[in-house]
Amino acid sequence: MEHFFISCEHLNTFWLTINEAFSTWNIYKKLDTIKIIVIGYNIPCKEYNFVNVILCHISYCIHKAYMLSERKTKMVNVCNILKNEFHIMQQVKAYNNSFLRKFTQALDSV
Ligand SMILES: [Zn+2]
Repeated sequence: MEHFFISCEHLNTFWLTINEAFSTWNIYKKLDTIKIIVIGYNIPCKEYNFVNVILCHISYCIHKAYMLSERKTKMVNVCNILKNEFHIMQQVKAYNNSFLRKFTQALDSV
């Protein structure tokens, strides 16, 4: 599980980008630990709920990329999959918070 979600070399650039994007909110703690993926980031603080919503989508997209790449036999860009996912969620107004738009902008600017 650690390898699949975190330490696989196919995800190195992806996690760098994610951490860079989160630094927009002064979240500098490295988020790519299995504990944070499973348990959540700073769960007692409601103002960090959006981080955990984003992390749920991140783990979903890592799995989606794995399936689309036919078990890593084809090149797939996880970051683009995540961006597409966020663009779709904004279109269908899945969340009425502005964090998704901000995070997508942060991803685009990395
Ligand atoms: Zn691997």
